[in-house]
Amino acid sequence: METRQTLEIRVRGTVQGVGFRPTVWRLACDEGLVGEVLNDGFGVLIRTTGSSGAISHFLNRLHNEAPPLSQIEAIETQVLNLRDFADFRIAESVSGENCTRVTADAAICAACRAEVLDPSERRFGYPFANCTHCGPRFSIVREVPYDRVNTTMVDFPMCALCTTEYEQPADRRFHAQPIACPACGPTIWLEPADGNGASHHPRAGAALNSVIELLRNGAIVAIRGLGGFHLACDATNEETVQRLRQRKHRYGKPFALMARDLESIRRYCRVTPVEAELLQSPEAPIVLLQAAPGETLPRAIAPGLSTIGFMLPYTPLHVLIMQQIDGPLVMTSGNISDEPQVTSLDRARAGLDRIADALLMHDREIANRIDDSVVRIIAGKPTLMRRARGYAPAALQLPAGFADAPDLLALGGELKATFCLVKNGAAILSQHQGDLEDVSTFEDYQKNLHLYSRIYDHEPHLLVADMHPEYLSAKLARQRAADEGLPLNEVQHHHAHIASCMAENGIALDAAPVLGVAIDGLGFGADGTIWGGEFMLADYRAYRRIAAFKPVAMVGGVQAIREPWRNTYAHLCAGPGWDYFVENFATLELHRYLQTKPLATIDRMLEKGLNVPLASSCGRLFDAVAAALGLCADHAVFEGQGAMELEAIAGSCPRATIGSPYPFEITEQPSGLLFLESSAMWKALLSDLGQQTPPAQIAARFHFGLAGAIRDMIARILATHPAAADVSTIALSGGCFQNKLLLEELVRLLEAAGLRCLLQTKVPTNDGGLALGQAAIAAARYLDRN
Ligand SMILES: [Zn+2]
Ligand SMILES: [Zn+2]
Repeated sequence: METRQTLEIRVRGTVQGVGFRPTVWRLACDEGLVGEVLNDGFGVLIRTTGSSGAISHFLNRLHNEAPPLSQIEAIETQVLNLRDFADFRIAESVSGENCTRVTADAAICAACRAEVLDPSERRFGYPFANCTHCGPRFSIVREVPYDRVNTTMVDFPMCALCTTEYEQPADRRFHAQPIACPACGPTIWLEPADGNGASHHPRAGAALNSVIELLRNGAIVAIRGLGGFHLACDATNEETVQRLRQRKHRYGKPFALMARDLESIRRYCRVTPVEAELLQSPEAPIVLLQAAPGETLPRAIAPGLSTIGFMLPYTPLHVLIMQQIDGPLVMTSGNISDEPQVTSLDRARAGLDRIADALLMHDREIANRIDDSVVRIIAGKPTLMRRARGYAPAALQLPAGFADAPDLLALGGELKATFCLVKNGAAILSQHQGDLEDVSTFEDYQKNLHLYSRIYDHEPHLLVADMHPEYLSAKLARQRAADEGLPLNEVQHHHAHIASCMAENGIALDAAPVLGVAIDGLGFGADGTIWGGEFMLADYRAYRRIAAFKPVAMVGGVQAIREPWRNTYAHLCAGPGWDYFVENFATLELHRYLQTKPLATIDRMLEKGLNVPLASSCGRLFDAVAAALGLCADHAVFEGQGAMELEAIAGSCPRATIGSPYPFEITEQPSGLLFLESSAMWKALLSDLGQQTPPAQIAARFHFGLAGAIRDMIARILATHPAAADVSTIALSGGCFQNKLLLEELVRLLEAAGLRCLLQTKVPTNDGGLALGQAAIAAARYLDRN
C-alpha cells in the first residue's frame, strides 16, 4: 500500500479573492485527499493528508487548473507529522501581516454574461452580476483582508439565495465577495440632469430602457461604471459628438469608444488576432486600433489621428446597454476639465449635470477611482500607455538581487503620475493618477497614497522622488521626509526612465550596465538644465550621460509646450539660422506665418537669456517639426499633440515613396559630451517644403531620419566610448517612444546591428512608469550601503 503523508503547501501570489480555495477544495476532493485550506497573510495555506501519488497529482492539477484570475508565484511544500482529518474543508481565514496581492478588477466572464442575457436566470437583466472569475475587486476595496465587510458591498446584506451560493464550494460564486442579485444587491436609476423629477427616478429595467432611448436619440448620458463615471453618446452622431466636445471643453484629445462586439469594431478598424485577444481579455483595456480605410466615424472622435481607441463592454451594465445599441458609443472619462474622473453621486449631480442630459446612477460606492487602461500594439507587443483598470494594482516582481529591498515609497513624476510601493521584494505600482498640477488630482493622489498604505499595511523606511524642484510629488516627498524623519533619495528623471525599463525586463541588480536612450518632453537634469533626449550608460545605482540632443531654447518656458510654433522658431534660429531661412525660404507659408508672431520680443528674450531655458528635448523637436508643417502650430491642447498628429500623417505615407530619411549630425563638446544636431535635418526639411513635397512624406522622412540618427549615435558610443565597449543591450524609454513608427523603425535598425533592445510594455514608457524606476534605483542604492 502506498504510504500516506501529510504535507503543508504554501501558495504565494495573487491567490485571494479569485476563487482559489474552492478550486483547491474541488481538486482535493477529486483526488480523495483530506485536510484544509485557508487564507492567511502570506497567501493560501493547505494542509493535506493522502497517498503520495494523490498528493503529487493534486499539486500538478493545482498548477494547471488554477482559477483564471489567479497568478501563482510560488508553491512551497513541507512534510508534517502524519495527521488525520475527517474530510477536506475550507477553514477560517487567519489574519496576519498582509503581504499578498490585491486583485485588479476583471471584465465580466462568459458565464455571467450568458446569465444576464438569459430570461430564465434570476440575474437576467441584472447590471451587477459577478462571480469568482469576474467583477469588481480593487475598485471596491476599502481595507484588507478582502472580505465583503471591507468593501463597498458592506451596504448590501446577502439574501438567502445569494448566501447559499456564497457558502457552497461547488458554486461559481463561492466566496465571491461582491456577490449580488436583484433581490439584495445594488441597483441603477436614472436622474435627469436638471435635478427635476427627483422623486420619479425610473429604476432598474425602466432606467435601462430610458437610457438606451436617450442614447439612440442623440443625448449625452453620464454613466456610473466600475471605477468612475463615463460620458456616453452615439459615436456615429457627429452633432452629438461635437456637443459633447463643447460641453466638456475638450477639443483635441481623442474619445474612446465602446462597441458591442468585435464584429462591430471591425466596421471601423482593422483588428489583428493579438488585438482581438486583448479586447476580450479580463483586463478589457481600450486598444488603440488602426482606422480602416474609408471608415465613416465623425472626425471629431479622434481629430488628426489615424487610430481609434476601442473597448468592449466589461461590466454587466455595459453589456445590457450595448446589447440594445447598434453602433459604437463614445465612452469617455466623466470628468470636469482637468479634474480626475468623477466617482461620487454628489459630484456627478453638481458637475457632470452641466455636460450630460441625464445621469445613470447606481448605489455601489466606488472606493478607488480607476480609469480605463490604454494599450497599443508596438513592435508586436501589447504596450500599456495608461496602466489602470484590469492591470493595477497587480504587483511586479523586482528582478534578481532585489529580494531584500527595503519597504519604500517612490512618489513618481508630475504628469501622468503614479506612485510605487516596494514591499517584500515586489513593486506595487499605483494606477494612473493623472496630472498633479490639477489641484483635485493632487488631492486624489494623496488620498490614494493613504489608501495604498492601508491596503498593503505599508510603512516606508525610505522615500524616493524626482530631482525636480517644483514637482508637487517631489515637494510632498521632501515635506514627508522632514516631518517623519525619513531618508529621501532623489533620482534623475531619465535615469528613472531607464531603470524602469530595466526593471520590467528583469535585468538583475548586478547586471552589467546598459546603454539607455530616454527621449521625452522634459525632465530636470543633473546640471540644472532641462533634459529630454538622453543617452546614458546606466545600471540601477548610477548613470553617465554620454550624449544628448543638442539643447535648444524653450522660448517662454512652459509656454513653448502650449504654443509649438515657438519651438519651430527656436530650432530654426539655433540650427540653420534665421538669416539662412529668410535668404532661401522667404516665399514659404512658414515664413509668412512666423512673421505674424512677436519675433522681435522673442529675439530680445533670447539675447538677454530671459525665460528661454535650454532643453535637450526630443519632444520639443517633434513640436517644432509638427508646427513647421502647420500641425498644432498656434496651440497644442495637450503635450505631445503635435507629435501624435505628425506620426499619424507620417504613417499615411506609403513606404515605397518615403525617399531619403533626413540627415542629422553628431558633434562632440570639449567635455566629451556628444550632441545630436538637427541643423542638417532642418535644411533638408525646408528644401522639401520649398519643393512642395507632401507633408506626409516630410513627416515620414523626419521619423525615419530620427530613428537612423539615434541608431548612429548608439553605434558611435559603442564604438568609441571606453566604458561602453562591452555593452550590447539598449534600454529604450520615455514618452516619445509611444510613437509606434519611430520605435518600430529604431528597434528594426538596432536588431539588424545585433543589439538587444529592452522596451517598456507592462509599464508605461511615459512618466507613468517613472515611479517604478525610482523605486528600483533607491532600492539598489540602499542595498549597496546595507
Ligand atoms: Zn463571472
Ligand atoms: Zn441576492
